[in-house]
Amino acid sequence: MMDSQPGVADPVSDSERAQRAIQGLAGMGAAVINLSLIIAHWGQWNAVLSVVGVAAALIPLNTLFLEWLARKTSRAGVEAMRMAINMVCICLLGIQTRWSVLVWVFVPYNMLWYFGLDRWVRPRMALYLVVINAVALSTGAEPATAAAFSLIGIFGYLGTEKRGELLVQKHGLLEQAHQELQQLHQRALEQERLSSLGLMAASVAHEINNPMSYVTSNVDSLLQDLKDEPNLSAPLKEYVDDVLPATLDGIKRVNSIVSDLRRFSRGDYEGYVSYDFTAEVRTALRIARIQLGHVRVEEVLEDVGPVVGRPRQIVQVLVNLLVNAGQATPSGGVVRLVTRREGAQVRVEVRDTGSGMSEETKRHLFEPFFTTKPAGLGTGLGLSVSYGIIRAHGGRIEVESELGKGTCFTIDLPKVPTLPPETSSSGNLRAAGR
Ligand code: ADP
Repeated sequence: MMDSQPGVADPVSDSERAQRAIQGLAGMGAAVINLSLIIAHWGQWNAVLSVVGVAAALIPLNTLFLEWLARKTSRAGVEAMRMAINMVCICLLGIQTRWSVLVWVFVPYNMLWYFGLDRWVRPRMALYLVVINAVALSTGAEPATAAAFSLIGIFGYLGTEKRGELLVQKHGLLEQAHQELQQLHQRALEQERLSSLGLMAASVAHEINNPMSYVTSNVDSLLQDLKDEPNLSAPLKEYVDDVLPATLDGIKRVNSIVSDLRRFSRGDYEGYVSYDFTAEVRTALRIARIQLGHVRVEEVLEDVGPVVGRPRQIVQVLVNLLVNAGQATPSGGVVRLVTRREGAQVRVEVRDTGSGMSEETKRHLFEPFFTTKPAGLGTGLGLSVSYGIIRAHGGRIEVESELGKGTCFTIDLPKVPTLPPETSSSGNLRAAGR
């Protein structure tokens, strides 16, 4: 028996399942016909002996031995063998009982058995009918009876075949639905995990914020106090001139990262406001900086002035593009961020000299949960969410990428969007190729 992959409809194993389901019924039917044959030929002990012998051999052979053999070898081969054995036995019974009508009942009955959906089923059935008819007609069978039961067999078989196909089709659809359900469940878990992470980041940032405020104020006071001292020793003077200002600088950086993180990870509703676009681009750069440590970051930021929109969402998009660029670019590569005003629009370019993307990746890029990164590194949500955000702002996001050379994402945002035309994050998502 073939192993089926979990979640994938496998027509061979499906047909086997269907076959097994009717096996009990088939055995019972064969027993009834055999019993009728024995009763009909009671007194003709040769015929009765043949019926009993054939039944005793066929029933366990069909239900136990051949099933066991099919599991060990190939199903198609075993089915051919099953057909040959049944054919020979029916011919023997036919000759013994002078082609009694009850033996003919066996013929269509045999053909009702479901012998898989491989491409040899029909040739097997045809061979079966031809051989039985040839033997029957040459050993004195009634031609009209032979023709009638052969026709019943053909129609019976075609009906069973159709039903089998429908069964497999239905099973395939069920498998597909099950698979989709599993995927949705996985996505729900992932989203839940991400939103918990966001909440955690917000609370960690909040916790860091409190101690940082008194560290800032204490270092600042210390610096002011030392500055007021008239006669400082040389080492203390060095503290006043270099060490403490540098320390304050570091503290300010930590403070701005913490406040960016707090703002960025807050999950509450954000309305449309007028904001300083360049300041938000700098925020995104600060947040993404940790993922860009190994590359040279080039910034060409034109002051584009105020823009109307949801700044937190725009930062989210930029962080995602910058982090992706950093992850795709090896050490020593370049990530270049350019912003400029173009009429009533703002253009942002995030260009990297990284791995680039294959045509296949470009095709699926903006689809939710599409990722080429290993589990734990990528969720495949970044670009689909970014796409939704940019569309909701009335803008466009496009990508140009060449495998092995690098990638450039371009965003065009209206400075003042007409009211959000679209808020969905998916739809007909397509990357604009080179
Ligand atoms: P994630 O980063 O979690 O995989 P994204 O939606 O942000 O999800 O990105 C989807 C896929 O797009 C990534 O897995 C990667 O294959 C590809 N990708 C995105 N940005 C780049 C880039 N700058 N260079 C190469 N591939 C990229």
